[in-house]
Amino acid sequence: MDLDTVLEELNWIPRPRMLALSRLGIARVRDLLTHYPRRYENRLQFPSFPRDETVDPVCLCGDVVKTRLMRFGGRKIFEAVLEESNAHALSQPLTCRWFNLHYIQKMIATGQRLIIFGRVKRKGLRLVVDHPECEVIEDDEEILIHFRRITPIYPATEGLSQRVLRGLIFRLLEQVDVASADVPLPDSLGNGDDEDALRKIHFPESDEQLREVRMHLVLGEFFRMQMQIAAARAKNSARVGCRHQARGLLEEKFTAALPFGLTRAQQRVLNEIKHDLQLASPMNRLLQGDVGSGKTVVAIAAMLLAVESGSQAALMAPTQILAEQHYAVLRNWLDPLGIRIALRTGTRQEDNMPLPLFARDSALLGSAGCQPAVSGSLPDTRSSPGISEPSYHYRRLPHFERPWAKYAIAFSTRNRRKLSPQARDIVLESILRWKDRRYELYAACVMPDHVHLLIEPMVERDGEGGNSIFFSLSKILHSIKSFTSNQINKVERSSGPIWEGESFDRLIRSESDLQEKFNYITRNPWEAGVVTPKEDYPWVWYPEVEFKKEKFAASCREQQAGSLRSPEEERRNNPAPQIIVGTHSLLYENVTFSNLGLAVIDEQHKFGVAQRGKLTAREPAPDVLVMTATPIPRTLTMTIYGDLEVSTIDEMPRGRGEIITHLLTTDKLGEAITFLRQELTAGRQAYIIYPLIDESEKLDAKAAAKEFEQWQERLRPFRCELLHGRVVSPDKQAIMQRFRAGETHALISTTVIEVGVDIPNATVMLIENAERFGLSQLHQLRGRIGRGAHISHCWLVSSDKTPETMMKLTVLEKTTNGFEIAEADWELRGPGDLLGTAQSGLPELKLGDLRRDAVLMRKARRATLELLENDPGLDRPENQRFRDLIVERQGQTFSHVS
Ligand code: ADP
Ligand code: MG
Repeated sequence: MDLDTVLEELNWIPRPRMLALSRLGIARVRDLLTHYPRRYENRLQFPSFPRDETVDPVCLCGDVVKTRLMRFGGRKIFEAVLEESNAHALSQPLTCRWFNLHYIQKMIATGQRLIIFGRVKRKGLRLVVDHPECEVIEDDEEILIHFRRITPIYPATEGLSQRVLRGLIFRLLEQVDVASADVPLPDSLGNGDDEDALRKIHFPESDEQLREVRMHLVLGEFFRMQMQIAAARAKNSARVGCRHQARGLLEEKFTAALPFGLTRAQQRVLNEIKHDLQLASPMNRLLQGDVGSGKTVVAIAAMLLAVESGSQAALMAPTQILAEQHYAVLRNWLDPLGIRIALRTGTRQEDNMPLPLFARDSALLGSAGCQPAVSGSLPDTRSSPGISEPSYHYRRLPHFERPWAKYAIAFSTRNRRKLSPQARDIVLESILRWKDRRYELYAACVMPDHVHLLIEPMVERDGEGGNSIFFSLSKILHSIKSFTSNQINKVERSSGPIWEGESFDRLIRSESDLQEKFNYITRNPWEAGVVTPKEDYPWVWYPEVEFKKEKFAASCREQQAGSLRSPEEERRNNPAPQIIVGTHSLLYENVTFSNLGLAVIDEQHKFGVAQRGKLTAREPAPDVLVMTATPIPRTLTMTIYGDLEVSTIDEMPRGRGEIITHLLTTDKLGEAITFLRQELTAGRQAYIIYPLIDESEKLDAKAAAKEFEQWQERLRPFRCELLHGRVVSPDKQAIMQRFRAGETHALISTTVIEVGVDIPNATVMLIENAERFGLSQLHQLRGRIGRGAHISHCWLVSSDKTPETMMKLTVLEKTTNGFEIAEADWELRGPGDLLGTAQSGLPELKLGDLRRDAVLMRKARRATLELLENDPGLDRPENQRFRDLIVERQGQTFSHVS
């Protein structure tokens, strides 16, 4: 029999016990022997009976001199009076009492010798022990297992009493040679080998020995873990990865276009990433940074480096909402650079190209520092029969002016008034008049009842701090409109406005976008059927118009012969996306990466390691950057993410609004509502979060709906919307979009908005039943606000006034530092809840406690690094014994290390 023997083969464990054991996942000898005690009781026998009460339970041995059974109403009390075996004048008898335990009275009789364990109390003149653990001394072995020693107490289990479990383990230890279970430790980890360690941990001979053997075993556990991590790491770096050699042109363009400079911390981690990307071995890096510290920007820069070097990059988010948001943010920043981006989620697939004019827009523009500019609805262009024309149906969407951006602009005449040829001349001339003075002109077309422009506003003057101030779209359009109105009214002897007040503008997002708009505008008269293909239309302008006009007209004629290409056709003709954004579905659905060079995994703690592995188990191995906003205590970083290099953004961007956190009991909810209404009136937006334990339950959805109605009532006339896990995806997305656009004022939501959602105008968060969330989760939730310049407020509402809850919530009131909160959370809940080792892919820790034994983990890590530094291949004779530690299950060996 050895440690791997299946317990069933032993034949002496009764069947019901076997069942109970298998429920605990205990199947082999090893499993049972590593079912470690949860605590110990000192049952070393006291030499004599105590004279008074005891603080701790004690172990005593005595003779039963009297028993009696008493009844009080329905209650039965059985008493047994014990006397010390060598009683003398001063000894005082002890009364053991059991309430309502029938079998005890059958077990115990006068004249027997009894061993008991329990706390002694004084009751009047008597010393009593209620419900002691006890054993009749008949069989000395049984006594030896349970009493007169430091006795192990195991984690409670159903169908398996402490005694039974203890008995099984005791017997097993007598039969098995446990020496092979001992993990060999390098000298630097001190206390040598201990072949008997497994026996001692269950049945230690002294407290001293227990302390030593526990440390020995914990070190063994940690050392094995660190060796496996090191092996994984070595294996990874031995893989062939992509060497990304980019000059960083795209990244530079990107960072230059940002309305803010990178923080020093962002710059530093970006450099770390850059360094890794250039190496041939695959990057495996963890990027941690508190909520809102700007990880996404760093990830984008990293992806651009990969893209520039010719690879694809993937960005994976844990939720649909977050994937959508990333996609929007990426398009906002990267469309102008002409990057091909695709969204791949379970429910939505989209490529940013091709973009027929106005047919699709990103309503999901990013946030930072952009001002709404001219907006409006586009004139509903009548489509001529037989000619397919991009549709103009449009919602009003906020647009943003950006430096060096190009825009496609359209505006129409009031009431579709038809412009005379002379009027069209005036309009075109006036457009050309400001060309190169206020804007660069790429294309213009004056249609009979509307105008198209493709322009890039120029710098008007230099503002403070070296910022250039550009001509605004509204200014440009205003001059064109008012100048031409005057002129036209003059020559046509008319009066009143010529133009609609509104204009429509569309940010050009990429080179191909520009080309597309250019084609559209310059071909518009022919395609709209205003003139026949053979005719000329003099009110179209583009650079070098004189030279190209003929060619254009000809190509238009060709175009018209065939119809426009279908989207499928377009896609087929498009090269592969350079960046793919998605959810888990990236892993499981048929997304084929043509050339994946960098995978960024956002909010890693929501992903399992297995999933990460699946994404990266391709050849050549892509670089991997995992990001987390759940700060991880250092010991955990060394283990769960031990195979990763760590970069930390430890600095918040400046100008972040402060977040003030208030604790509130439910009866004072009114105060918060008043405050909320004030903020909404001031133009801010709010999240109202309530916990749903299990979103799959109908009941909860119902509760959510009810909650929602109440909030609508409370916040009337502000617009509220409801968001929870059961809302189907397209709706979910639409709801987020409306909130982002400011059409909705308050979002009543479950934690589906927990991670990553970034809406700077939302400055109030009210969390109901806050006590039901964990600290880290509350911190994540709170991170949704405080993202703009305004002061934000977070209300933690709870009806639970227990000290435990108050202590938990007060942590949040006191600090917004994610690391402090993570430590506090860890302390309050233990690491199991924060981050399960189960998902780490590492062996489960059975004895060691990452928190309590942090020092030992650090020691084990240092020892491992030292060992492998001196002997990377474990070739030295004295190190052969460590090889077994890293032999993987599949029989692979350590040969990857070189
Ligand atoms: P997180 O680390 O939580 O993923 P994000 O990357 O979403 O943070 O950034 C939060 C917000 O801060 C975004 O609106 C982003 O544009 C902005 N931001 C990022 N870096 C900076 C910076 N250096 N200065 C100012 N704002 C920044
Ligand atoms: Mg984020």
